[in-house]
Amino acid sequence: MTTNLIFPQLRPSHTKIVATIGPASDTEEMLSKLILAGVDVFRINMAHGGTDQAQTRLDRIRKVSQQLGVTVGVLVDLAGPKMRLGEIPNDVYQCETEIPMKFIRDKITTEPNTFTTTYEPLIDDVNIGDKIMLADGTVALQVAEKNSDSIICTVIQGGTVRSRQGINLPGTKLSIKTLQQADIDNAKWAVGAGVDFLGLSFVRSPEDILELREILVDAAYKNTGFWSDIPHIVAKIEKPEAVERIEEIVDVTDGVMVARGDLGVEFDIAQIAVVQKKIIETCRRKSKPVIVATQMLESMHHQTLPTRAEATDVANAILDGTDACMLSGETAVGEFPLQTVQMMHRIAVETEKVLAERFALTHRPSRTTSVTHAVCDAAVTLADEIDAAMLLVKTQSGKTAMAISNKRCFTLCVGTSSNIRALQRMNLFWGIFPLINVPENPQESLISVIEAGKTTGYLNHGDRIVHVLGIATGSRYRNVLYVHIVD
Ligand code: PEP
Repeated sequence: MTTNLIFPQLRPSHTKIVATIGPASDTEEMLSKLILAGVDVFRINMAHGGTDQAQTRLDRIRKVSQQLGVTVGVLVDLAGPKMRLGEIPNDVYQCETEIPMKFIRDKITTEPNTFTTTYEPLIDDVNIGDKIMLADGTVALQVAEKNSDSIICTVIQGGTVRSRQGINLPGTKLSIKTLQQADIDNAKWAVGAGVDFLGLSFVRSPEDILELREILVDAAYKNTGFWSDIPHIVAKIEKPEAVERIEEIVDVTDGVMVARGDLGVEFDIAQIAVVQKKIIETCRRKSKPVIVATQMLESMHHQTLPTRAEATDVANAILDGTDACMLSGETAVGEFPLQTVQMMHRIAVETEKVLAERFALTHRPSRTTSVTHAVCDAAVTLADEIDAAMLLVKTQSGKTAMAISNKRCFTLCVGTSSNIRALQRMNLFWGIFPLINVPENPQESLISVIEAGKTTGYLNHGDRIVHVLGIATGSRYRNVLYVHIVD
């Protein structure tokens, strides 16, 4: 039997890299370089462009990954109720502590110290004493007076503010729904387009996730006439309300993002490291993939080397147990997208050298009642005990690959599936390397993986392969585990 399997995506790092696409990375040539350098998932941010642009980018990613013979995941990030300033006369204003600021309901302002906003209920939602943060948290206002059509604010921390910059209201209970009409429209498009992950911004409750899932299921049903494979939901944790309800949110979501950009404004920035650790720990315990995002290698926007603090930040997120690290502006608009991905990959490889020991000490899986988790636990232990060369996981939905990933296996883990969406999603699962074009029949699939492994030098005569299969027959789901010796 001959095989055309290739192993181009087997990397020395287990941590996954998510890279945001933008003008700096939007060509076929650059996408291809980024994939080969270590990108597993591309993020398309709906805050900067509509579905036409997103479709073009998605088509380009799929074309390039097909040419390379690999899969990559695509995460479409829904903007949610992002609040922004309106236009400021002359586009820029210097907030000074001596001069109070005013917000009005009108859409246009001619006064320099009077702001408008895209968030219509702002004046109704805030109370006297509430904080209003501008310019990525560098400017802080406090509501001092509330009238029917305006609020007056004292400037606590002055600084420069520009038109259309984001507004954060930490501590204010927002009356607006998390899912905006634009998010719903974009989510429906994403279902038809075959997007792998949908990020939902400013999640506040588990109900936000359930509402989005219902919309996705309905859209899939309308498109195909039956329930079909919908994008996995990634809950972006950036509000204090979400951190308070993190256990319930992680229970219902498919994945989580520690969205430190807004999180660092909504919380006192001094708390951000402990909040990150709490979110990662919850996701690890509940076996859900987690991404740490924002400013990971920020200075690489304009430099070819990160700061010591940034390199340490990436390493610490990996040591905390994150599945993936995300790049935002660094790959979207930065001067050195390729070098940034290469750097993140190098930090991951170096950090993971001490990770196996750490997991052995601190991340032992707890007892489980799930058969899949118990079988995967046994598979990982077995692979370690018999010094297996490969752990091969065959799965339909990707569930078994996710369970293996959660055990943090240091044996080479190769994921196969006849479901291309499941393969694409495996790109977010720590330590799982998805392989395409593997025959569906388990025996044939094993033979072709062995052939390809021998050709590429990953497997040799006498090597042991631990094979885990997740098999769905009708409504029943079975797991099979066995050891194969390469002859
Ligand atoms: C963040 O706030 O860290 C984030 C990733 O979200 P966005 O880029 O949409 O602000």
